[in-house]
Amino acid sequence: MTMRSKLMLGNWKMNGSLADNASLVSELLAGMAGVHCHAAVCVPTAYLAQLQNLLAGSALELGAQDVSAHESGPFTGEVSAKMLQDFAVRYCIVGHSERRRYHAESDALVATKAQRALAAGITPVVCVGESLAEREAGQTERVVKRQLAAVIHANGHCISEIVVAYEPVWAIGTGLTATPEQAQQVHAVLRAQLQAATAHADRVSILYGGSMSAATSADLLAQPDVDGGLIGAAALKASDFLALLETASR
Ligand code: PEP
Repeated sequence: MTMRSKLMLGNWKMNGSLADNASLVSELLAGMAGVHCHAAVCVPTAYLAQLQNLLAGSALELGAQDVSAHESGPFTGEVSAKMLQDFAVRYCIVGHSERRRYHAESDALVATKAQRALAAGITPVVCVGESLAEREAGQTERVVKRQLAAVIHANGHCISEIVVAYEPVWAIGTGLTATPEQAQQVHAVLRAQLQAATAHADRVSILYGGSMSAATSADLLAQPDVDGGLIGAAALKASDFLALLETASR
């Protein structure tokens, strides 16, 4: 048996406003009494200061959705890991499939981003996952192993400090959740890959993401290598997110 307690991360993506964030967070904090898992919300950069204030002293932690691969300098529009550190950011998603797809982020770039986060004391949440075409072509394991290998290669012994999120691209925002068996199969592959790289692979949380809902979460979270969830749509509604946090607290 492992000692990993569940970790549930909300990914707000490009949603929210000062007013909407304030009411969402107040509903969430009011409902946290029965929540015993680790939980965080990954919010748009523009709202980090607001969220740092709203979450201060609470059990809900703060995350970002991306970080620059550069330390500082002439990179207009980018946000460095050190800047995230200023807002007490605990987690930072790197390599989300939307960034890989719409911003052509390569495995090597994602690995460098993970490195920047780690150097700033921020836990990178490294997203991996296959497209539908890749799954149908029987390439799922090859794709996720290639994506994780780049991060292992760049981060050496620090690799036990990362969080991995397995997010099949075909399951994100589609309402199609991977079955618990499909998720566990890939999570076990990722765990084995981590075990080959570090003696502390048991410490690494491997989250599942892709249309996770209150209805699908219990069976997914019961799998031996599913250590939590990365949650998009359901993280934008307090009652939905709280239901997921409660399931993960059992
Ligand atoms: C995500 O974007 O990380 C995600 C899992 O989204 P959704 O839950 O909406 O599928």
